[in-house]
Parts: sequence; structure tokens; C-alpha cells
Amino acid sequence: MAATAARVKALRGAGGRFRWRTPVVAGGVRGAAQDAAGQQDYDLLVIGGGSGGLACAKEAAQLGKKVAVVDYVEPSPRGTRWGLGGTCVNVGCIPKKLMHQAALLGGMIRDAPHYGWEVTQQVPHNWRKMAEAVQNHVKSLNWGHRVQLQDRKVKYFNIKASFVNEHMVRGVAKGGKETLLSAEHIVIATGGRPKYPTHIEGALEHGITSDDIFWLKESPGKTLVVGASYVALECAGFLTGLRLDTTVMMRSIPLRGFDQQMSSLVTEYMASQGTQFLRGCTPLRVKKLPDGQLQVTWEDLESGREDMDTFDTILWAVGRVPETRGLNLEKVGVNINPDSQKILVDDREATSVPHIYAIGDAAEGRPELTPTAIMAGRLLAQRLCSQSSDLMDYSNVPTTVFTPLEYGCVGLSEEEAVARHGEEHVEVYHAYYKPLEFTVAERDASQCYIKMVCLREPPQLVLGLHFLGPNAGEVTQGFALGIKCGASYAQVMRTVGIHPTCAEEVAKLRISKRSGLDPTVTGC
Ligand code: FAD
Ligand code: NDP
Repeated sequence: MAATAARVKALRGAGGRFRWRTPVVAGGVRGAAQDAAGQQDYDLLVIGGGSGGLACAKEAAQLGKKVAVVDYVEPSPRGTRWGLGGTCVNVGCIPKKLMHQAALLGGMIRDAPHYGWEVTQQVPHNWRKMAEAVQNHVKSLNWGHRVQLQDRKVKYFNIKASFVNEHMVRGVAKGGKETLLSAEHIVIATGGRPKYPTHIEGALEHGITSDDIFWLKESPGKTLVVGASYVALECAGFLTGLRLDTTVMMRSIPLRGFDQQMSSLVTEYMASQGTQFLRGCTPLRVKKLPDGQLQVTWEDLESGREDMDTFDTILWAVGRVPETRGLNLEKVGVNINPDSQKILVDDREATSVPHIYAIGDAAEGRPELTPTAIMAGRLLAQRLCSQSSDLMDYSNVPTTVFTPLEYGCVGLSEEEAVARHGEEHVEVYHAYYKPLEFTVAERDASQCYIKMVCLREPPQLVLGLHFLGPNAGEVTQGFALGIKCGASYAQVMRTVGIHPTCAEEVAKLRISKRSGLDPTVTGC
């Protein structure tokens, strides 16, 4: 507090450390608040301690700036709460990938006897034990983030922030205590939360979302997953892999926005592993029965027929809403897209108010992925705090859907390439291959498929790569570098493979779709 008081005094005396670039709104609000007890001033204030916010704050502090991060997690409607680190760490990538791994291990246990392991009895899975281990890891990451902030002298406040004026934010702590923080630059990195289809009777009372699934202490049991994108298919995939009776209800297509041939193969493989699909259906109501079971009634959109079944758990995975509503953005003139509620930004991540920025899931038109939020945050800090003018390049961002058979991709889908360049100018090379590990284990490899989408004109620039198979994320990451550097089909063909791997199949894609030849890989 003494340091703060001295700082406020210094600000008053020497004209302050702030070099305001824009006039302060709301008349004397800032001046008055400057005198208020407990107000603290920073070079950079980050709202949201998730992937993007933490990266931005740490980078700015490293560059010598006085930085604060405010982070506050509103419990889910089910009451689930978690610590510092945002979606990825607590209710996203990390617990998801660990549960995916738990499910993959089940597959390996099934493979093991083929490799001589004498697995003499059914190996049961213990959800409670897995969840506890996953949750402990997440808690260690929460702690790690706090330590990192401390090490880099970033001040962390566990408060929920909203704007008072263009340079000032009010934070409210769990117990109601208020803190005023002001800064020269403010970065909004508040992410998003899962949507509830509140128009569906019983959805909010009886359903859960990805904010809860990873924190359940007991097995969710027979589960209905509603939705058909990343979150839905990944969750349904690991639940099936953990041998739970799992049904996916999709109203339209799987993985909208992804290459649709690949998306169909993803769901085909899931179906072969036991996930049930209710296609072209939408839920109408959820009722809790006296025995605690959830009765779901749905409509078949084509026939209009109603049907019902009972489940232990309903998981809504119907998209996410950005956390922008409580920020008081209208008051300071930060524009949002009224449909998506996301913050409108330019290529410097600047909002309609020049010294207020938005990154990550809360910003309009950005991929909702951790590495993009992190890179955007770091680059923004470098531009604000050093001489950098490097902008985030959102093109050719690789991603992987961690379904039982993983799907990694980078660049354009076949549909996008054809739409942009015309069918005549696009060449697609493809292969159905069998991972070596699948052979001895007698696994079905019908959906292990790769395609590379190229321009037809030599040197045949690679526009997109799509890989369906084990370790797709690991495979796709390396090729993403090539594609980012403008690799051509000819260069990929001159890349020596690593044998025996699945990744080497990418460097052996000789059959074009246009040729009509059988793309099944035989032999080494
Ligand atoms: P977040 O990480 O969401 O952080 C925002 C933080 O701000 C939160 O802690 C929030 O509570 C806080 N906050 C919000 N409002 C306020 C306020 N007013 N005051 C103070 N604090 C506030 N991405 C991948 O790249 N790979 C994956 O495998 C992957 N898997 C995912 C799985 C699931 C189930 C989900 C839901 C997402 C997954 N994602 C994945 C996406 C990834 O988690 C997000 O893109 C990423 O976390 C976005 O980072 P962010 O910094 O924008 O926001
Ligand atoms: P999306 O917005 O991508 O998908 C929402 C899904 O729910 C769609 O299948 C949509 O169907 C369906 N849906 C929407 N409303 C309804 C409704 N009322 N009834 C039935 N179905 C409905 O959201 P996600 O939550 O899956 O993912 C959000 C983002 O998180 C992703 O875009 C991704 O960037 C990130 N993420 C990344 C992961 C990774 O990197 N591995 C993993 C998980 C998430 P329709 O197509 O018909 O609209």
C-alpha cells in the first residue's frame, strides 16, 4: 500500500508515468479514482488469466513493464470451480488430453495379448482414480502459474473485472471487496464458456458441460453428448474408450468447417469403436425420473418423429459464448459483434478503443485454440513493450481433434481449396494406410487416411494436409512448419521418410484423386 501511495503521489507530481494516447472518458472519474484508497496503476493490465492473458502478461513483465493480471472463475451452473490458468489448463486441452490418453490405454490393453502379454482377466477402469490423478495434475499447473507470475513480478488479483472508464477497471473479489486498477494499456483475454441450450426444457437443471465433465468425482455412466464439433466428439471419444455407453446426438454434420471427407472418417471410426450416433436429431426436453435417471425426448428432424431414452448424464457440447457481457464494454466504447458477442479487433489485436486490446477466444475471427492465444499475447506484449512490429499470422494454423483416431490438419480443406482455386486447379494426393502397430494387434485400419491438397500447377504448392491416424498432433506439427514455409508437393516428395512410422506415409503420397487409382498403401 505504501508503494502504491508513493506511486500515486509521483503520478500527480511529475505528470505521471502514463502517457495517455486517448482522452480519458467520463470527466473526472479517473482523477477522482486516482485518489481513492487501494487504487493501483500499471503499464499493462490483463483481464483474464488463461492461455492468452498469462502469456501476454509474462512477456510484458519480462520486458520490464509493471504488469497485473486479474482472473476470476465464475462457477459453472453445476457449481464446478477451478483455479488460475483458464480454459485450457482447467476444463479444456489438458484434462481432455489426459482422459483421451486414459482411453487410448484401454485400446493398448486390448492389443497387449497379441504382443504376448498374458492379460488374464478383464481390466476394469476406475473413473474416480483417473479423475483424481487428472485433477491433481491440473491443480499443480494452477500452482505453477501462480509461481511463474510471482517470479516475473506480475501482480495477480483473483477478482472479477469490469471497466470503469477507458483506463480503469473495477475488480470484485469473492467476498465483495472492490479494487480499482488503472493502466496505460489494457488487454482483454477473458475467453469463453460453454453454451447451454436454455430453450430446451430441463437443459440447465439436468445437463452438464465441458466445464464439469473433467471434475466429476464419479463416472458419468451412460452419457448423451449433444453436439458434433471438437468438444462433443473428443468427449464422446474418450467416454467410449473408457467403456461407457455413449451416444452423440448431432443435428447436422460432424466437425463443421473441417474437411468433410475426413470428418466422416472420424465418426465412422468412432462408430466402429462403439460410439452410437443419433444423426439429424435435436433434443426437445430433459426430465429427471424418480430413480434419478434423465429422460431425454428428441425429434428426428427429417421425419418429425419423437423418440426418447434415458441416460445418467447429458453433456451439452453445443458451442461456447465469449465472456464479454459483464465487462461494461459499451461504457468505454469497445465494439463487439452483436451476434457472436465477440470483440472486434484489427490485425494488431486493437479494439475500437486504441489502447484496449483483445486476444484469444474473446476476440472476433480468431481460432479458438491455446497456441494462437499464447502467440497473439506474446507478440502483442512485444509490440507494446519493445520496438517490435511483428503481427500474429493466423494463416495455416495447425490443429488436431483428439478423437479415438486423431485427426490433424493444417491449411485448407479440399472443399475450401476447390472453392478458392477451382477444381481444375487443385490436385489431391491421398492414401489409405495401415499403421504397423495395427497389424500384429489385428486392428481395423479402414479409416487411417491421409490427403494432401495442392495446387495443380507445378511446383504444386501444398494448400492443406489432413492426417487421420495415431499421434496425429505429433505428425501434423512438423509438416505445419513446411506448409508455413511454402512447401510444394515436389519438396514433400523429396523429403526422406522415417521408417517405420505413420508420418512417412505423407512423404509417399503418389496417388492423385483425379487418377482414380486405388490409394491403398501395400507393402513398406
Ligand atoms: P481462457 O483460457 O478461457 O481464459 C480466460 C480467463 O479469463 C478465464 O480464467 C476466465 O475465468 C477469466 N475471466 C473471464 N471474465 C473475466 C473477468 N471479467 N474478470 C476476470 N477474469 C475473467 N485448444 C487447443 O489448442 N488444443 C486443445 O486440445 C483444446 N482442447 C479444448 C478442449 C475443450 C473441452 C475446450 C472447451 C477447449 C479446448 N481448447 C483447445 C481451446 C482452448 O482451451 C482455448 O482456445 C483457450 O483456452 C483460449 O484462451 P484464452 O486466453 O482466450 O481464454
Ligand atoms: P463449435 O461451435 O465448434 O460447435 C458446436 C456444435 O454444437 C456444432 O456441432 C453445432 O452443430 C452444435 N450445436 C449448436 N447448437 C446446437 C443445438 N441447439 N442443438 C444441437 N446441436 C447444436 O463448439 P465446440 O464447443 O465444439 O468448440 C469450440 C471451440 O473450442 C472450437 O472451435 C475449437 O477451436 C476449440 N476446441 C479445440 C479443441 C482442440 O484443439 N482439440 C478441442 C475442443 C475445443 P451445427 O454444426 O449444426 O451448428
